[in-house]
Parts: sequence; structure tokens; C-alpha cells
Amino acid sequence: MTHSDPLLAPMTNTDRREVAGVQMDVAPAGTGRIKRVVYPAGFRWSTHMQPIVGTERCMHAHVGFLARGQVHVEYPDGCTEEFLAPQVITIHPGHDAWVVGDEPAVLIEVDFEAETPQLFGLNGHRHRT
Ligand SMILES: [Zn+2]
Repeated sequence: MTHSDPLLAPMTNTDRREVAGVQMDVAPAGTGRIKRVVYPAGFRWSTHMQPIVGTERCMHAHVGFLARGQVHVEYPDGCTEEFLAPQVITIHPGHDAWVVGDEPAVLIEVDFEAETPQLFGLNGHRHRT
């Protein structure tokens, strides 16, 4: 991890957390938050985060900009989505997700904590036909 890389370098004025190998830098923005989230290569929500969180699937909505890496998302009905940087991400609550490939995924995310799904209208994914 090189510190000259702004996507990975230490940030100032953020609250830094690490959960299940996922590094989060969080800063308040009005009534919401801006986060830089680094998911390591090999990370899978259902393997690494599920035992900590306790829900069957990730119940968060994710809205942001995937600045690096590749993420695969799977919903319980079998619908899947693949995101490859640089790409905007919208992920609905109730998903599993994992990092594809051998580089970390870096997501610049906006959230309103528990109100995120309602405020972004992310209440159910669009089925693939
Ligand atoms: Zn579906």
C-alpha cells in the first residue's frame, strides 16, 4: 500500500475504522456521511462480515463511486451485478458481495446511515430479464 496513492493514503479529518479487514474513513457531510471504503482482495461479505454483523445478508444500501477494483453482487433470488472501476455503484439492501480479482476495491460512498435506502429509493433491485 503506497502512501503516494491518494486512493489508499492516510486521510485527515476522518474517523478511521477497520472491520473484518475492511478499512473505512468516515466524515460527516450535512445530514449524511462521505466514506472511503477499501475492501481487500479476497473479501466476501458472507464469509468475513456476516459473522460480525449477524444478519443473513448485508442490509445496507451502497451508493457511490467505485474508484478501483471489481465487485460482484448477488441477491437472494439469484440476480447478480458486476461493477468494475471506474463505475457508479448502487446496491440495494439484502445482498452478498465480494471483491473480484487480486486488487482491493476502493469505494467512495455516500450514506445517511439507517435512512440510506429510503432517501435513495433503494428498496428492491431491478430484476434482470
Ligand atoms: Zn432479482
